Amino acid sequence: MVKKNTKCRICSRRKFTKFLILGPQPPANAFLRKKDLKKREKFYPLDVYFCHTCNLAQLLDIVSKEELFRNYIYFTSGMPKISDHFKNYALHVIKKFLKPNDFVVEIASNDGVLLEFFKKRRFKTLGIEPALNIVKVAGKLGIETIPKFFSERLAKQIAKKYGKAKIIMANNVVAHIDDHQDLCRGLNALLSEDGVFILEAPYLIDMFENLTFDTVYHEHLSFLAIRPLSYLFNLHGLEIFDVQVVPVQGMSIRVFAGKKGRHNIKPIVKKLIKKELSCKLDKLGTYKKLALRVSESKSKLMALLKKFKKQGRTIAGYGAPAKGNTILNYYKIGTDILDFAIEHLPSKQGLYTPGTHIPVVPPDYAKQHEPDYYLMLAWNYKKAILEKEKKFRKKGGKFIIPVGDEIEVL
Ligand SMILES: [Zn+2]
Repeated sequence: MVKKNTKCRICSRRKFTKFLILGPQPPANAFLRKKDLKKREKFYPLDVYFCHTCNLAQLLDIVSKEELFRNYIYFTSGMPKISDHFKNYALHVIKKFLKPNDFVVEIASNDGVLLEFFKKRRFKTLGIEPALNIVKVAGKLGIETIPKFFSERLAKQIAKKYGKAKIIMANNVVAHIDDHQDLCRGLNALLSEDGVFILEAPYLIDMFENLTFDTVYHEHLSFLAIRPLSYLFNLHGLEIFDVQVVPVQGMSIRVFAGKKGRHNIKPIVKKLIKKELSCKLDKLGTYKKLALRVSESKSKLMALLKKFKKQGRTIAGYGAPAKGNTILNYYKIGTDILDFAIEHLPSKQGLYTPGTHIPVVPPDYAKQHEPDYYLMLAWNYKKAILEKEKKFRKKGGKFIIPVGDEIEVL
């Protein structure tokens, strides 16, 4: 179920240094049913390596994608605010790149919520999504979806059957893909000559600026920045011509790439590469310092939680996102510290967090059992959560933000 890569997925070289050790951990979305709590869970190494050649930060222990993604628990349309984000995204793409009847493909289209915006405006759309349970939901929305993993082979079949795509989108999925060479060959096979590949991914810089190391879990195989991505695209006759930095899931990059020479390259591409170099993302020492900060942050949070427990205070988790499980498992925060984790996604309610077995409950339950403190595992929705929980805070309830060099209590 786990394979060990020996070559870098971008540059194919073999010189690495391991700089962050967070595991072994169970897969972050492997939530458990009550009857499975006594069974033995699978734990895999969760270590991050630095490639000395192209400087990609990456996992080398690869859990089988069949195990991770075939029955996926994350429904895009269930997330608050995400619909606005996608609407603006779709409108931007339509205005900038599309003509009537153009063909729009999305890799990992989830339940089709983004493609729906394109379909409503009469573009040809096709989703590719390996999670069979989620494909069923997309079918109900009327979004044609192929229940497979994207690959060069599939890209060729699609190009033959439907024609070439003007737009291929891949939101929060490139980092999930192990074989980047196959991905790029697939893009070349499916993109029209003036087509645009748009990927959205968490930006590695964010991990350094905000210590968001909890984006490391088995699904995220690469921690992306513009320099290594440029290296990759260049190997395949592709190039990045524009980038937007977007405040979603922490700080993300939306990267626009196309076939070489077909698009004007915007100054922001060079500017971000320069920024990455000035942040020393090409130096191993930078990554080692990051690991040190993570371990210091862990000591601070654990000291605080233990202090509150000693004072007889109650603590619960706010949100049960995948990334929260990285923190819970690495810090060993179990039911001795958190009574439950409140989660509004129905697909997770009634389950237990992998490895740490904290019950995931609906917001109604939490209203009856309000704790003194919430550990805000879903910190990426911090603003919205603080706003929503004004009453709780007025009564003296507090939120603990788990990531950062200093632990915030709000
Ligand atoms: Zn490399």
